[in-house]
Amino acid sequence: MVTATKTLSENAQIAKAYKELLRLSYQKLSAADKKMIRLALDTAVDAHKNQRRRSGEPYILHPIAVAKIVAEDIGLGAHSIAAALLHDVVEDTSYTIQDLESMHGTVIAKIVDGLTKISSLKKDKNVSLQAENFRKMLLTLNDDARVIIIKIADRLHNMRTMDAMPQEKQIKIASETLYIYAPLAHRVGMYNIKTELEDLGLKYTESEVYHEIQKRIQDNFDSQEEFIDSFVKLTKKYLRKENLKFFVEGRPKSIFSTRKKMMSKNLSFDQIFDRYAIRIIYKSDPDQEKFLAWKIYSIITDHFQPNPMRLRDWISAPKSTGYEALHITVMGPKGRWVEVQIRSERMHEIAEKGYAAHFKYKHGKQDERGLEIWLNRLREVLEQPNPDAVDFVKDFRLNLYASEIFVFTPNGDLKSLPQGATPVDFAFNIHTEIGMHTRGAKINGKIVPLSYRLRSGDQIEIITSEKSFPNPSWLDYVITSRARTRIRSFLREDKKQIAIEGKEVLRRKLRQLKIGFNESTINKLLIFFKLNTSLDLYYRVGIGTIDNVKLKKFSADQSNRFFNFFKRKEPVTKDPSIVDQEKITDNFDQLVFGKAEERLEYKLSPCCSPIAGDEVFGFVTISDGVKIHKNECPNALTLRSNYAYRIVNAKWIDSSQNEFIAKLLLTGLDDLGLVNQVTKVISTTNNINIKSVSFDSNDGVFEGRVMLKVKNTALLKKMIKQLEKINGVDKVIRE
Ligand code: MN
Repeated sequence: MVTATKTLSENAQIAKAYKELLRLSYQKLSAADKKMIRLALDTAVDAHKNQRRRSGEPYILHPIAVAKIVAEDIGLGAHSIAAALLHDVVEDTSYTIQDLESMHGTVIAKIVDGLTKISSLKKDKNVSLQAENFRKMLLTLNDDARVIIIKIADRLHNMRTMDAMPQEKQIKIASETLYIYAPLAHRVGMYNIKTELEDLGLKYTESEVYHEIQKRIQDNFDSQEEFIDSFVKLTKKYLRKENLKFFVEGRPKSIFSTRKKMMSKNLSFDQIFDRYAIRIIYKSDPDQEKFLAWKIYSIITDHFQPNPMRLRDWISAPKSTGYEALHITVMGPKGRWVEVQIRSERMHEIAEKGYAAHFKYKHGKQDERGLEIWLNRLREVLEQPNPDAVDFVKDFRLNLYASEIFVFTPNGDLKSLPQGATPVDFAFNIHTEIGMHTRGAKINGKIVPLSYRLRSGDQIEIITSEKSFPNPSWLDYVITSRARTRIRSFLREDKKQIAIEGKEVLRRKLRQLKIGFNESTINKLLIFFKLNTSLDLYYRVGIGTIDNVKLKKFSADQSNRFFNFFKRKEPVTKDPSIVDQEKITDNFDQLVFGKAEERLEYKLSPCCSPIAGDEVFGFVTISDGVKIHKNECPNALTLRSNYAYRIVNAKWIDSSQNEFIAKLLLTGLDDLGLVNQVTKVISTTNNINIKSVSFDSNDGVFEGRVMLKVKNTALLKKMIKQLEKINGVDKVIRE
């Protein structure tokens, strides 16, 4: 009897959940849609009939809840809802994909197949394997974009119902959520879901911090209620005067983002809550939307002083996620800053729902195409084999959070790129073929270096040539994972190819020098040239950095060792002037200019034809760059006395020797994007090259070790100053 009652009430529970799912669906469901969904429900109920969740409730409530998130919060259509209901069927029960295909059709079966593949990925604690799993998960985008969205919904429901799980599992699942699911949700414009995932993630990874901040947000809300009320009352009064239709709501504060702000800006809770936030959501005809937003802006700023630094116009240039709104910050009563978000009802819906709403409005019908466009681009990146999964996931995550700039193609098409992107990133964004053959770039009609950082509003023209190919130095400044992945894979192939040829060249050259080509010789060569792998060696022979002259030196060095073994040390006496001369012609191969020893483009002047090692100076000409003259050039005196301001000091250096290694230790607060900024500062400083980098973070504390090749200490000091300016960096110490 007891069992019967229980079953009955459970059935009622299931029926109730199902009805709610249909009722709250964001998209209008046709009779055929409802039939399809009902069929999926029946299969799922049957498949899971003997299963219970850890909490004790019937398992089927989980897929229904996931389907509800898909239908209501994300706003996807009937196929997605049905697939969500069936998402655990193949993995957990005796049903197969073939069963689902014959019962529910190929579309649904394919989505479920994708979801099943993700779930069956190897669970492993090893970081790189974990990364590999994420990568595979992202690769399922090849099957159907909806897979990843339903997976996010599945994750959200699991996070909401994690209390019955053992703590260790909670922490693992929560960390994964923060690492990849929340950024993904952010990138596809599902802000509410992202926020909830983050808050839940924090709740399980750092529960004390979570509860502390939650409590303080509540206290703060209680104490500021009066102030907000008075501000809202005034705002409403002013807006009503203008006959606007609108409503005002408080902006819920995310616990996770509050914490992130406290950590990254090193601010106290009170400092963060210095700013209050409200949202004005107004009714509008489609063609009045933008006008009304600015009208509201002008009404509010007529009464409250705006902070000009804090105006964000996402209406004229929406985020690539589809987000539109006008954000302003004004001085409210009692001299307190208030952030005001101004959105039409349509914009509000987009902000809440993401793409589903965006495309409902944009195309007048409900489709998921916008998402497809974004995901298509992702797919291309993902298709590139990248042997280092950790690198891949890192690049990928950085791109998920990067802020955006907007630039134009020569035809005036608007493109969005992450902040810090270069012309090379742009080229790869347009088309891989363009990226692969980029030779140069023009910004607003002017030639710029390929490392130029694009700014919003730039118009970019890429100059291509069939003979140009990616260059290793591009990796120093490109920032999109798309460009990075493509360049890396090209270089890997290219390097291998060159190395194969280089190996044959080396074999031939060693034979001429009467040195055997064998493992012991290769090892000696590696030591002599300070290289790590034979691939590096062959590659350098292939591109000619290791040439006959250098190989002869190696040969001489080897025989000297042999003779020195028998000989006592004998002082070598040589005419010092001869030694010097030798040194100069051999090694002094590069001119540097000024105190900072900059490298500039230059030409040797024909009037005195200087050669390497001569005492020289540079003369800045009007149309022909820097010209080099000997100090004893017949024209030197005239130039120096009449154009002193155009003279630059120049000296010859040995480009391979005149660099020293500096080690820096950076400490600070762990912050997303910090690594990015640090490497950016270093890589954009001229004459400083990164040799190795390692970044560690532990409980929010960031520690980075950087090994650099530097020309001189003045440059190094200048760069350290810049590093210290980065938000979050506490100390930079030279070790
Ligand atoms: Mn599930």
